[in-house]
Amino acid sequence: MRIEPLTVVSTFAFLLTSAIAPVHAADDVQSVLFTNVKVFDGVNDELKTQDVLVTGNLISQVSDEPLAVIASTNMTVIDGGGRTLMPGLIESHVHLNLQHMVGGYGTMEDRDWQEIGAMAAFTAQSLLLDGYTTVRDVGALQSGIRRAVDRGDAIGPRIYNAGAVISQTSGHGDWRLRGFNTLESRYTHKAAQLGLAYIVDGYDATLSAARQNLANGASLNKMMLSGGVFSSKDGLHTIQGTEEEVKAVVRASKDWGTYATAHVNNPSDIQRGVRWGLGEIMHGQFLDEETARIMSDAGVFYNPQLSVSSLEAIERTFGPGESVNKSKSLKVAEGMARIPDIVVKFPKLMEKMTFGVDTVTVTPANAIRNRDHEIWFWADKFGNLQTLKSMTSIGGKLAALTTKHNPYPAGPLGVIEEGAYADILLVEGNPLEDITVIGGSKELFDAPDRKAGDSETIDLIMKDGVIYKNTLN
Ligand SMILES: [Zn+2]
Repeated sequence: MRIEPLTVVSTFAFLLTSAIAPVHAADDVQSVLFTNVKVFDGVNDELKTQDVLVTGNLISQVSDEPLAVIASTNMTVIDGGGRTLMPGLIESHVHLNLQHMVGGYGTMEDRDWQEIGAMAAFTAQSLLLDGYTTVRDVGALQSGIRRAVDRGDAIGPRIYNAGAVISQTSGHGDWRLRGFNTLESRYTHKAAQLGLAYIVDGYDATLSAARQNLANGASLNKMMLSGGVFSSKDGLHTIQGTEEEVKAVVRASKDWGTYATAHVNNPSDIQRGVRWGLGEIMHGQFLDEETARIMSDAGVFYNPQLSVSSLEAIERTFGPGESVNKSKSLKVAEGMARIPDIVVKFPKLMEKMTFGVDTVTVTPANAIRNRDHEIWFWADKFGNLQTLKSMTSIGGKLAALTTKHNPYPAGPLGVIEEGAYADILLVEGNPLEDITVIGGSKELFDAPDRKAGDSETIDLIMKDGVIYKNTLN
């Protein structure tokens, strides 16, 4: 559906002539016309006074001229009251099943699938109600919640999911408790049973794991290629994944029309992963300039986590005293603190840098605190435009790295342009000048408790042409 600018179609009488025939041809499709808004398109450092027409689940028209209001039962007109209209936010690093696994991954053995699934559905709903219309789940989520959300049976964002994390024995995805000390337990512990983590070694088994994820409907594959904090068997120095294992996952993914990504920290491991065909590097907590240059030249995406690197954060997370995970966390924090100064030297890499908080094992209130503070931290280090682009148009480009296997192939995500998916926010204020209007919070631990959906500046949330929050009425 297209409608003529008001300057051309100036009277209702004119609307009744044959000039509006195409409008009525699409009358069985719902449309929403946003007027009196300033548009941030997800890319440019400016707000434009435009009207935006949504037809069905796509943006059908973006006009510099006011659009005519068509008298139709199938059209809703929303007067934005001068608010900013912008793309829905994209969170490119969530773990819906793990975010609220309070007590750690070990507690998985004491939970059944219903509890884990219910918490994941809760997390998905929370994200949508805070304005995140697309999330990428990079590990430990099969596709059932996405199917339920896409059918409209559950409320949540669009979900790109990596399925089970693929880890070598003893790697960052080997979450078995110490009692599970047989080789067979790799296949029988809870994470394996639920399809949250595949522990595999060698080309053939790794290829099968990647293909099993794709068979289960995963949109991409994710490997563990370095040690990490929340796993007990692997030091941060450990190099994980052989060339043939990485190439197995890359090959299975590319052959299906998608890509492979990896949890990876150390420069040598990042460089190997880029050389062997990964489409993206996540974390990169010990990034150095040489490695950033290699990533930039290769054109891979980069998904760093930056904010929770303070000593206070670590003390609060791990409590008093010494522990293995705490000392790992301190080392990671030192590396994280250096990342912003390195990446700003590589503008091409910044254009591939996506926003993702990677919150696991925390309460719902603390997950929101982490997310809000990460937004503020990014804006402080990189400016509002970069932060917003990473949360919209660049996140959309990463989503499009899943090509023929893309669950949402009809149009681009993270932008306000004709043909894009109608994932839209109306916010009070200008996020290019004030990042708090989309949730950014300078405070972390001292931020007041809040619930998803209670933002007083995000007034309207539309996903796929459907409105999930609207305080304008
Ligand atoms: Zn993660």
